[in-house]
Amino acid sequence: MKREFAVIGLGRFGGSICRELSEEGMDVLAIDIHEEKINEYKNIVAHAVIADTTDENTLKELGIRNFEHVIVAIGENIQASILTTLMLKELGIKKITVKAQNDYHEKVLNKIGADHVVHPERDMGRRIAHNIISTNILDHLELSDDHSIVEVKAGSRMHGKTLIELDIRAQFGCNVVAIKQANDKQINVSPMADQIIDQDDVLIVIGADKDISRFEKQLV
Ligand code: ATP
Ligand code: ATP
Ligand code: CA
Repeated sequence: MKREFAVIGLGRFGGSICRELSEEGMDVLAIDIHEEKINEYKNIVAHAVIADTTDENTLKELGIRNFEHVIVAIGENIQASILTTLMLKELGIKKITVKAQNDYHEKVLNKIGADHVVHPERDMGRRIAHNIISTNILDHLELSDDHSIVEVKAGSRMHGKTLIELDIRAQFGCNVVAIKQANDKQINVSPMADQIIDQDDVLIVIGADKDISRFEKQLV
């Protein structure tokens, strides 16, 4: 089943969303105020339209109401981003995802009812920072402002030890929710406390950021 998406703002972020959705076979309406952007994307997406989405009548004429999910990827012009989001909300769009430029922008977007606010530069920066701290931290997913899930590769400090011996929950307050074993590529989603961890096994760990940080420093 094809689902309909509208993407407003064809910068690097919005453009990348358009390409990916289209490659996945989705029907995408791409909107930008600049003609050159529309020319760039008209052969990539199903529909591409030049429009200023801060104009309410323009939005109505586009039939934006018929879209189940609208992505607002207007970056620098925070006022245009907020106005557009507000009008989409008033038009009753069920799902609105908006890219925030900074924390204040994010706050306003949440207040006016954006369903999902993303902050790609900040979040990608954080993820890369964690990867830089240790080559054994493979990925980092934020659950909230102070909780995350991390994917860590066991090094020599964990090799040959069990979860009991490492005492991770008591020592660090984090939970190991899954272990991907290096040798048989199995993923064990409810690891036993006596499972022996080998070097290069991958542990999925959930916890408060400050606890995960201690765990990373001492064991990873
Ligand atoms: P990037 O994802 O490249 O970092 P950005 O966050 O820096 O992008 P901008 O380049 O400022 O964001 O904006 C993204 C796009 O949104 C631009 O192509 C711009 O033309 C478009 N845009 C800005 N205002 C409007 C508007 N009122 N209506 C429609 N499109 C708009
Ligand atoms: P964002 O991550 O916010 O999307 P961007 O990719 O759009 O950023 P810019 O804002 O153009 O990138 O640049 C990022 C930073 O790099 C700016 O703070 C700018 O002052 C700095 N910068 C740019 N050129 C130089 C330079 N030659 N030497 C040192 N700093 C620079
Ligand atoms: Ca940018």
